[in-house]
Amino acid sequence: MSRGDMAKPLLGHRSMEGDPSTMPAAGRTIGVLGSGDFARSLAIRLVCSGFKVVVGSRNPKRKAGLFPSAAEVTFQAEAVKKTDVIFVAVFREHYSTLCDLADVLAGKILVDVSNNTEVNHHKESNAEYLASLFPACTVVKGFNVVSAWTLQSGARDGNKQVLICSNNQEAKRTVAEIAQVMGFTPVDMGCMSSACEIENIPLRLLPAWKIPILLALGLFLCFFTYNLIRQVIHPYIREQKNKLYKIPIEVVNTTLPCVAYVMLSLVYLPGVLAACSQLYYGTKYRRFPDWLDQWLQHRKQIGLLSFFCAALHAVYSLCLPMRRSHRYQLIETAVKQAMEKKMNIWVEEEVWRMEIYISVGIIALGLLSLLAITSLPSIANSLNWREFSFIQSTLGYIALVISTLHTLTYGWSRAFDENQYKFYLPPTYTLTLLVPCTVILAKVIFILPCIRQRLLRIRRGWEKGRYVKFVLPSATGEYSSGETSSNV
Ligand code: NAP
Repeated sequence: MSRGDMAKPLLGHRSMEGDPSTMPAAGRTIGVLGSGDFARSLAIRLVCSGFKVVVGSRNPKRKAGLFPSAAEVTFQAEAVKKTDVIFVAVFREHYSTLCDLADVLAGKILVDVSNNTEVNHHKESNAEYLASLFPACTVVKGFNVVSAWTLQSGARDGNKQVLICSNNQEAKRTVAEIAQVMGFTPVDMGCMSSACEIENIPLRLLPAWKIPILLALGLFLCFFTYNLIRQVIHPYIREQKNKLYKIPIEVVNTTLPCVAYVMLSLVYLPGVLAACSQLYYGTKYRRFPDWLDQWLQHRKQIGLLSFFCAALHAVYSLCLPMRRSHRYQLIETAVKQAMEKKMNIWVEEEVWRMEIYISVGIIALGLLSLLAITSLPSIANSLNWREFSFIQSTLGYIALVISTLHTLTYGWSRAFDENQYKFYLPPTYTLTLLVPCTVILAKVIFILPCIRQRLLRIRRGWEKGRYVKFVLPSATGEYSSGETSSNV
């Protein structure tokens, strides 16, 4: 960020409860101990947010040039004296070197921004360690989940959440206000015992993605092996033909749509199972088993992976004609036809099949892109519940139906051609149809008025075996009410 930029406020109008500029924290002096990357970015953001900043360094003369001119850079003890809130932008290993400042720090708020290099690196969290070194101070854990880069990129970009915890409510409120004025969203994580959890957050590698990625890899491996047997091993064993060249593109390209298609159906299958459970038990208040709960929570990641595989399938398919093997096969076919004096090679049915297959595939990919885009938090947050559920549920099911049509047009009559069965193994696409068709069939059953009404009542609180007053919307959108029992 240039010095010119520093003069401009980074924060635009923010739609928040309460105007940050009128908060008690606004305009106060904030101390920063340390002059490294984080301290510098923090000082820049604080200055831009209207705070007075005083930086405490062991070598202020050397470091002063790195900070905006509005920030005062001085010795650590001097800086600490000028403020009540001090961000400790120093690594945990060096906390003990600050012990000389214990007297001047007494009674002040210390904000611990530190991170570790490993999950659960130390027995106690860094913040608890800092609190043990400075018992006369109030320690607040916070800001460690935002990087120096996020601090510099302003309110326009980057992660906006700042997780905060402390045993002192007042100190926590003060730090939360500072975060708000800086354009962040403070999230209260409770008391100091949460510090360990907060410190582990930046070290976690895609925690929500582990199961969906393993699932996608598992499916990929299964379908890849199946296709390898059919496309490479079978011709080698039966006709001694070397088809190894098919592995990098053809086998991968027949595997990817299978994974994409099955994964898409796995986004909607847990919803079907949840509805079945609710219908069976006649209540929505019974907890789902843990595995179903976990599955429901991972639907977004499973959907995004499905989109990823579908997009790769599209790119691979576009590249198919570029392959040398494809050109050789075309010439070979042309020569054969010329030798057999075949002039008309146009097969009307094949032409139509391919046209429909490609067109339907493009539409399915377009819908999947829409689902993927609207699952991003920034887009999802701009939609109301009805819009979100229309896109993710209704359009999602339409995408599943269109993907099924895409798969069926590919298959056309192949499922009934015995030459397509290699080692008695049916074509891969027929296997992939199993789960999606079950999901679609279940959805159709749930749409039937008698099932739909019952499900709707359950989701509005009606329970089997209990007399409850229920209110249901009629077809005209009006609400009707009545007394009912489970046996109705
Ligand atoms: P850094 O660039 O290495 O800066 C550390 C600073 O600590 C030094 O500039 C130094 O400033 C000060 N310091 C005080 N006593 C020290 C001592 N005895 N030995 C060495 N340095 C001492 O590190 P950083 O990236 O700014 O990170 C600072 C803290 O912020 C760490 O706890 C880190 O986990 C946390 N953090 C960083 C980021 C990030 O994106 N960088 C993100 C989240 C959290 P003086 O020489 O001026 O005293």
